[in-house]
Order: sequence, then C-alpha cells, then structure tokens
Amino acid sequence: MTARKSSAANAKKKSTRKAGRSVGKRKKSVAKKRSATRKSAPKASRKKASPKTVRKRATAKRARSAKGVAKGVSGAKPARGKKSEKGEMGAKSTKPSTTGRRVFFFGARRVDGHAEMREILGGKGANLAEMTTLGIPVPPGFTISTEVCGEFNARSGRLPVAVKADVRTALANVERLMDLRFGDPECPLLVSVRSGSRVSMPGMMDTVLNLGLNDETVVGLAARADERFALDSYRRFIQMYGDVVLGVPHDRFEHRLDAAKAARGVAHDMDLTAIDLRRVVAEYLEIVEEHSRNPFPQDPLEQLWGAIGAVFSSWENQRAVAYRRLNDIPDEWGTAVNVQSMVFGNMGADCATGVAFTRNPSTGERNFYGEYLTNAQGEDVVAGIRTPQPINETSRAADTMDLPTLESEMPRAYKELTRIYKRLEKHYRDMQDIEFTIQQGKLWMLQTRVGKRTAGAAVRIAVDMASERLITRAEAIMRIDANSLDQLLHPTIDRSQLLEVIARGLPASPGAAVGEVVFSAEQAETRAKGGAKVILVRMETSPEDIVGMHAAEGILTARGGMTSHAAVVARGMGKSCVAGCAALAINYEKAEMRIGDIAIAEGDELTLDGSTGEVMLGSAPTVVPELGGAFTELMKWTDRYRTLRVRTNADTPQDAEVARRFGAEGIGLCRTEHMFFEPGRILAVREMILAPDVHAREMALAKLLPMQRGDFEGIFRVMDGLPVTIRLLDPPLHEFLPQTDEDIRSVADALDTSVGDVRHKLKSLHEFNPMLGHRGCRLGITYPEIYAMQVRAITEAACRVAADGVKVKPEIMIPLVAHERELARLRELSVKVIADVRREYSGTRVRPTIGTMIEVPRAAMTADDIARHADFFSFGTNDLTQMGYALSRDDVGNFLPHYVDEGLIDTDPFVSIDESGIGQLVELGVQLGRKTRPNLKLGVCGEHGGDPASVRFFAALGLDYVSCSPYRVPLARLAAAQAALEARAE
Ligand code: ADP
Ligand code: MG
Ligand code: MG
Repeated sequence: MTARKSSAANAKKKSTRKAGRSVGKRKKSVAKKRSATRKSAPKASRKKASPKTVRKRATAKRARSAKGVAKGVSGAKPARGKKSEKGEMGAKSTKPSTTGRRVFFFGARRVDGHAEMREILGGKGANLAEMTTLGIPVPPGFTISTEVCGEFNARSGRLPVAVKADVRTALANVERLMDLRFGDPECPLLVSVRSGSRVSMPGMMDTVLNLGLNDETVVGLAARADERFALDSYRRFIQMYGDVVLGVPHDRFEHRLDAAKAARGVAHDMDLTAIDLRRVVAEYLEIVEEHSRNPFPQDPLEQLWGAIGAVFSSWENQRAVAYRRLNDIPDEWGTAVNVQSMVFGNMGADCATGVAFTRNPSTGERNFYGEYLTNAQGEDVVAGIRTPQPINETSRAADTMDLPTLESEMPRAYKELTRIYKRLEKHYRDMQDIEFTIQQGKLWMLQTRVGKRTAGAAVRIAVDMASERLITRAEAIMRIDANSLDQLLHPTIDRSQLLEVIARGLPASPGAAVGEVVFSAEQAETRAKGGAKVILVRMETSPEDIVGMHAAEGILTARGGMTSHAAVVARGMGKSCVAGCAALAINYEKAEMRIGDIAIAEGDELTLDGSTGEVMLGSAPTVVPELGGAFTELMKWTDRYRTLRVRTNADTPQDAEVARRFGAEGIGLCRTEHMFFEPGRILAVREMILAPDVHAREMALAKLLPMQRGDFEGIFRVMDGLPVTIRLLDPPLHEFLPQTDEDIRSVADALDTSVGDVRHKLKSLHEFNPMLGHRGCRLGITYPEIYAMQVRAITEAACRVAADGVKVKPEIMIPLVAHERELARLRELSVKVIADVRREYSGTRVRPTIGTMIEVPRAAMTADDIARHADFFSFGTNDLTQMGYALSRDDVGNFLPHYVDEGLIDTDPFVSIDESGIGQLVELGVQLGRKTRPNLKLGVCGEHGGDPASVRFFAALGLDYVSCSPYRVPLARLAAAQAALEARAE
C-alpha cells in the first residue's frame, strides 16, 4: 500500500459521512477542505475539469486533501500561526454576548444582525445580515443563533419552545415579504437551511436546499416555471434531506440517477426530461421509505425542524469534532442555522449559479475572477459535473477558452455583480469570496467572506490595497502570515501533476527539489559537474558532506531533527531538505535505498517537497516563484516599523551576498569551521589537531592562517558597513578526524610520524559524548594556539580590507562558555593578539569587539558574571535547547514527532522557542547581562531567529537583533515588524 493511498483512506475515514455521498458531493467536501489548508490553491482555480477528466481530478483532489488532513493529524500545525488566522476571522471572545434574541431576521424591511455579530450569527449569517443592510439583494431569511446550538445539544436534540415560536414568526415575515406561503400548494415558499459557525469549517457541516417541497407543493412550484424544473428541485431536496437528516446513504440515490441517465442515453442531469425526473422522484421516495421505514416527511414544518436539528447536531458529529480539535476551535462556540428563502439558478437558460473572488486568489491580481454554470443549483459548480464557465475574459483557463462568459451571456446580471463585488470589497476592506445565483436574469447574493489566497496573492493584495488606500500599510503588514513567505522564496511543486508520495519526513528546509538519487557527497559532486541534478540521500550528513550538499538540488536524510546538520546547512544554502525520514532503509554498499517494498537505485528520479516533508517517486514539474514588486515594497514597509534588527547566519561570501539581497543587516553567525572542509584544507586541519606538540601544531596553523584570512576578507568585503560576528572554532574535534586508512596515512606523512602514532593519538581523542565534550571554548583553553590563529586571521583580514576603504565591524564570538573564567582567559588572549596585529597595521582603526555565545544553561544563569568580559551576547538557542531540554538535536527524530502527535508538546522546541522553559533561560541571560552592562548588545543566532513566533518572543525581551539563514531574513523582518506593531497596539 502506498502512502498516498493510505493517507487518502485516512482522509476518508475522517469524513465517514461525506465518504458515503456521491462523487460530486464528495468532491465538493474534499475541495473545500483543501481550500481550508493554508497553502492550497483557492476555490476558483479548480477549473481544470472537462467531463472526461473529472474522475482523475477527483482522485487528485482527494490525494491533495488527504495531505492536508494527514498533516493536521500528525500535529504539524503551526499552532500560533493558526491562532492568528482565527483571530483575523474575528474570534474576539469565547462567549457570545447574550442579547436575549435568538432568532435574527434579515430581509428588506428589517435586519436584526450585522457583520460584527459573527459570534452569535456565525460568519455566514452575520454577512448575510450585513449585505442586506448594504442594500445588496439577498433572499430574505433568518438566523438561529449559535447559542441555540448549545441548548439544542444539551437538551438532547430538542429545540426550546420559545425558539420554535420565534422561528414561526420569522418565517411568517419571510412569507409576507416574498408573497409566498410555506407549504402552500399554489404558491409555496421554499427555503434553504444552512449551517454557519463563527469560523468557516469547510465541508464539516451541512446545507439542505429546496426545503418545503412535497407531492403537493411541487405542483405549485411547477406553475412558476415548468414541471421539469420543479421535479429537478424536488429530487435534489429528497436526496439532500435523505442524506443530511435521515442518514440515507447517498450512493443509493446516485445509482438511481445514473440508471435514469443511462436509460435516456444522456450524460448530464439537466438532460433528463420531466418524465424521467418524475420516475426518479418516485424511486427516491421509495428509497427513503425503505431505508428509514417511514414515508418521506410531507409536512414542511416537520421538514424544517428536522433540517434545523440536523444542522445543530452536525456540530457534534465526529468529523466536526475532529476538525475543531485540530484547529483549536472551542466546542462551546456552536453553529448557527440560516433559514433563507430559495432563489433558483435551475429554472432555465436565464438562470445560473456561481462563485467568484474579488481578486485573483492565486496571483493576487486585481481582476474579478470566478466561474458559474447556467441552469444549475447550489453545489453544481464545485461538484465538477459540468465544466464551469468563466465569468469573464480574465477568468479563462486553457480548457475554458471556448466557453461563453457570464459577461457575454448575461451582461446585465454581470454588471450588477461587478457593482456589488466592488461594494463588498470596499466595505470589508479585503478580498472576498462570494457565492451568487441568478434567477431569471435577477442577481441574488448568497454568501460573502474573506477569501483564501496563496502566499504570493496575499502579498500582492495587501500591498495593492494599501496603495489603493483601502487599508493602511501597518494593516498590510499584519495581514501576511510570516511563515507563508517561505512559499515565495523557494520553488514549489506544480501540484496539478500529482506524484505518488512514498514517504514522509520532517519539512526541514522549504522548497521543491527534483533530481537523480545519489548516496554520497562525492557522487553528488561528480554527477552535478556532469550537468545532472541530484538529490543527496544520506542516513545523516556531516560537515564532510558540505561540498556534495552544495552540488545537490535537495537533501534527504533518514535520521535527525529540524536542527540536525542536514537541516541547518540546507536552510542556510536555501536548498530543499527532508530530514528524519524514518522509512528510508539505505544500503550504501549497494547504492540503493528501500522505502517499504519500493527499491530506489542510484540515478533514479526523486522529488522532495521540503515544505511538507513529502518524498515522491519520479520528477514533478516545479514552479519557480517570481519575487514581484509587491514583495519588495512590503519588505520596505516592514523596515519602517520594526525595532529588532535582522542579521544572517552565513559562512561564505556567496551566502552573505544572498542575505544582503534579502535585507540582512549584518552577519550574526559566521561559523569558521565550515571553511575547514574544503579540499586542500582538511589535511592542514588534521595536522593541527593531531600534531604531537605545540611546534608542529603552530606549523599546521601557519598553513591555515592565510586561508582563513582570505575567507574573512571575502565576507568583510560583501558586508561592507555592516557588523560581522565570527564564531571561533566550535565543533567537537572528532568531526574533523581522518577515518579511512588512506586519510590516516596522509596525515602521518604530513606530520612525519608513523601511522601507528596517528592511530594512537586518534584513540586518545575519542569521546563518548562529543557534544558535551572537548569542543567550543574548551578547545581554545587547551589549544590556545588555535584561537590565537583565528583571532589573528580575523583582525588581519579586517585591517587589510579597511585599508582598501571597506567599513569593517568585526565581532569575535567565543562559543560554549559555561564559566566566566573561560571567557576571561580567552578574552585576554584575544585582546593580546588584536593588539599585536594592530601594531603591525599601525594607524588602523579596526578594533574587533569580543563577546560570547550564551548556549550553556550555566552561562545563562551566571550571565551577570560573564557579562563582565563580554561586549555582546549571542544566544545560541539551538544548543541552549539541546542542553536545557536534554534533547539531542541529531536524535530527536525517533520520539519527538510522537510527542507532538500525542500533545505532550505543542511544537518542536527546535523550531519554535520553548517560551516557558528555554525562553526563561534567555530572559534570565538578558536580565543578568544587562544588570552588569546596560549597553550589552544582545542577539540570537539559533535557528529560532527565523521562526516568526520566536522572533516575536525575542522582540518582547528587548533583544537587539536576531540572526537566521539567508532565506529566512525576509520572514524575520516581517515578523519583527508585526511584533512592533502588536506591541504598539497594546
Ligand atoms: P457551504 O457553507 O457548504 O458553502 P452554503 O450554505 O453556502 O454551504 O450552501 C451551499 C450552496 O447552496 C450555496 O453556495 C448556494 O449556491 C446554495 N444555496 C444556499 N442557500 C440558497 C438559497 N437560499 N437559494 C439558492 N441557493 C442556495
Ligand atoms: Mg457557501
Ligand atoms: Mg552551539
């Protein structure tokens, strides 16, 4: 069983009721669920179906939505992000304010509610009321408040008598307004009964259309148009009511309908004649009676109570409950019920129904965008039964080129629709997603709400709207989900061509990558040199793999978490990475891997989606996003609001350049050791480590000095005018040690000793727990020559480029300090070296500052002492989390996802700072540090610097800057601006 099948099955299981419905209905619910997932393309873009491809589309959709569902289930939701999304939807307080009134009328004469009342009226009801007030044509009706939902379910499914009375009164008002009567055989009023909670819960609850029809009223309805239309409405009603209220499996109806179409030899429902439909209706009534052992209810009032009850009960159905769990929606919110007089899009050729967006939801362009069907009702447009038509020229797609538009077919209704959408957008000050129906040429609005959109569209729309003065710039900034910017900066997979997902890992570094599988860094380099695109697959990566990682399009590892080596390095390089994919079984010898029973050999094609963690067989087309002017503009605006500075973690001039383009204001972390792995250098590094005495070590260091100096010069030049923090050697030495016989021999030769001696030395350096071992400043203490060389390289490089007129601001950072004496000692050493170099470059104005990382809990706890020797602190929140939480970053893959799934923790603490734990250590470090030195410069250089929620936290602590990988810089700038705006609002 493949992963796609299993997740699709999973999605089905989650929506048991929907799964039992017709293909059309199921597609609708799936499509809606999909539009609810943040990153998915919005509704109106679902237009690819020609009748032939409908099936295929359904499968694709299901698989896509399964992805969304599975993602939700796995708990990979950005908890804080979601909350803000909900906030935007207007969830202000949890308890609806009681006004006493429980049934709210909306209609030409009187409107009881308005848009701000979504807590009581639900989103749909509040907006129906608001549109009515605006004078927009909305079929009259009433909303039963969300409070009644709670009462109804608490009273085990009985409506309070007073509510029933209010409903009757409201219904009578609708009758008067429409000049129709509920249940009247001659001029029957029909209504829809529609669910609608405070926040939209797509596809979770139900709607019944054409309610009020029975064997008698159907005759009266026929008199308004024709018999075929009346029977079509009746059979739709029996089907929906049977399904939603009486629990009759939808397939049973669908089979009958298919049989009728087959008998007539037609493909579409609308090609059935009145005679056919009369048969279908009779058969439908039989199905209901057979299934529920009762005749179909003929009394319209009984139908109404049944439908209202079913909508309220649907709040408690499994599907809805599960959805609420996943989205943090409180159970007590409840749904409202909207009862609204029907308007008919299925009355003939001058009727239609459609959905539209006030701007293009995939690009954000300011184009009215939508689709519709003539002679259709309700969900036909999204059900994919017929290919929907574009409403105007700008809504055309490849497969709708030849179809007429609403603009051409019904120009008057279209003109009215245009007037209304503009009005709505202006009124709500945001892009709207609208539903409309045209009955005999007259337009009716049935829904409006803030429309979902892609990340790119969100930026474009926000910036355009600010330029149009519809919103302020600050509002534009607040409207963008900072996490979503990832989508904009990396290639994404073109999801219209779906590949099979064969495994899932952690979404460690965003973006899509396609290429041939290779299992070693060398292969990656060789093949890439030959022009191939490659995916590097490893158990885990180590610094030795850097060059291969550079050559690869993407990286896939079997082990490791979100801050494992592969994840951190890939993010830094802006490359796609899926890490900790436990399903991989790699056999390096055979150059093969297995995922379940699928074998993948070197050279086979693989696609990674680093934004979702999906691994797919084959090659999917990718879409490289274009960073439009809107993005640049938005970024400019963010800089005006934020107080927190944003630096980058960069080890090479190339990375530094990328980061500067993204707006980095300095380097917050330059890791010197990454430079040690380049061919031609590693041998000198090994000589340095394995040198038998100080003299031999200094010889080796003398070789490294010019190399390091060259690197720093390059970086200083790129960062002209901006500060550059360089961390002295940090990782455990074993990472650099030779493994193979060949490598050991070359070191022995270079040092002029025997292989045996080298092996002996290697043994003596072995550590059981290297991450807590001989690393960081401990190396500087035991081998002061190493740090002396590095400080010299930094200072010399700075003096040299300064002589060329470059503005350099070097900051020397000492890692892994736990005790103030370590820092005191190393500061003394550094100060001396700096003084020496300055003497050599007499007249230079270069003066590096010296600071430390706060990444050991003890350092945070004694930060007042440590600050005596530091010009700055940089919180290394990766190690601080690792050590403070006792979580090995490279091994968490085996249990941390489980913790998240089980709700033991909300989010991976390596992704979002653990505010109540590790965050407290940071806060302590800040307070103690500033107590000793009020002007102490404070920053963060862990991966958290690129996480919007963490950025907000750091901003609140009053840090000076965060530093993150180059591709995260825009996101951090935005998050910092949002933090400042939020603080200002408070
Ligand atoms: P959902 O929340 O699932 O979108 P709705 O309550 O909006 O459900 O109903 C779905 C569709 O049913 C609407 O888009 C509209 O086409 C149709 N519909 C609902 N109420 C009416 C009505 N009073 N008259 C005509 N069509 C209606
Ligand atoms: Mg709707
Ligand atoms: Mg560290």
